[in-house]
Amino acid sequence: MTTTAQHSKIQDVLTRLVDTQPQVLLLEGGTVDERMDMAMHWARLNNCATRTACGHCPACVQIEQGVHVDIKLLDGREGKIKIDDVRELKPLFGQPPRGDGKRVVILAEAQELIVAAANALLKSLEEPCPGTLFVLLAPQRERLLPTLVSRSWVLTLPWPHGGGLDGEAADWLRALGQFAQSGTGWFAKTGAKGAVTRDIALKVVLACRKDLTAILAGRSPSPMGAQLAARLDLGRLKKFDLTLAHAEDALSLPTAVNPAMVLDWLATRTYRLLRERP
Ligand SMILES: [Zn+2]
Repeated sequence: MTTTAQHSKIQDVLTRLVDTQPQVLLLEGGTVDERMDMAMHWARLNNCATRTACGHCPACVQIEQGVHVDIKLLDGREGKIKIDDVRELKPLFGQPPRGDGKRVVILAEAQELIVAAANALLKSLEEPCPGTLFVLLAPQRERLLPTLVSRSWVLTLPWPHGGGLDGEAADWLRALGQFAQSGTGWFAKTGAKGAVTRDIALKVVLACRKDLTAILAGRSPSPMGAQLAARLDLGRLKKFDLTLAHAEDALSLPTAVNPAMVLDWLATRTYRLLRERP
């Protein structure tokens, strides 16, 4: 199935969910932009005059322009989401929406919620908030507090590299695995001019994350993941997870970070982790 077909399938699921009204929806997988697009679709479905996310009615147009009074955005794409950001919105949660639809509170890149802010949000989710729907967006549910995830209806967008890795990314992953084992054959590869694009670097990081998720869930990872699983205990797997999170954050910054440097850093950290005492 193509990514577009998979996305329209998820849109169908969202359409059916409008009747169920899960108070908290968690969208994981996909890219930052794809998650945001899907959240906006959910916001339109819940406010559209024809309940179809038509894109043309006043509510849909206002949502598109970012001026709809009932759509609130806490944006982790711009940095950490702080407790004051959550507190500022809190009084709204007890009030009915001002328009005819639902209030939709979108937490973009919710892994950027600092712990205090996540806890403040949790408290709100425990109280009834009639007419208010929350949407959490994150690369993977494992990056959020489990207590947030357990309150959420989780939908997974297709992973950016589809079912399998494309040849180029798979090649990079093999090289990363080889370097982690032997300490050779890496820097010549990343040093080649223009070899590492942001897209490739993100694919490699996400492939590692997927491996890690598989390992932690007891499913079988790629050969590179199997090497890690065989040599790392849980504590060091957690460190690896944090390393991947940092790498992904660096690559997601709006300012240009050299993607080759991010991959070099990832490779070096992985090499060291394999040799660190548990
Ligand atoms: Zn509409």
